[in-house]
Amino acid sequence: MELVCPLCNGLTKYLCRCEKCESVMVDKGPITDFLDEYSPYLPIELTSKVDGASSNICVHLFYCEKCRNDKRVKIERIKF
Ligand SMILES: [Zn+2]
Ligand SMILES: [Zn+2]
Repeated sequence: MELVCPLCNGLTKYLCRCEKCESVMVDKGPITDFLDEYSPYLPIELTSKVDGASSNICVHLFYCEKCRNDKRVKIERIKF
């Protein structure tokens, strides 16, 4: 059995609504893909988790195309 992120593996859809305009936000994928770009702005706590301290969490970046708001959502990995 392996821990997988249900979003990365297309097992489920996570509907995330923008706090500002209530549009449905687009899943831009796991934040590890964006670390180079975003790590200076991440709180230390989150960065250390992405580094492997907490491998049961996959952090996804959601983006609102309407008002350009973005949000990081912690997705819990499931046994698969
Ligand atoms: Zn994921
Ligand atoms: Zn928005």
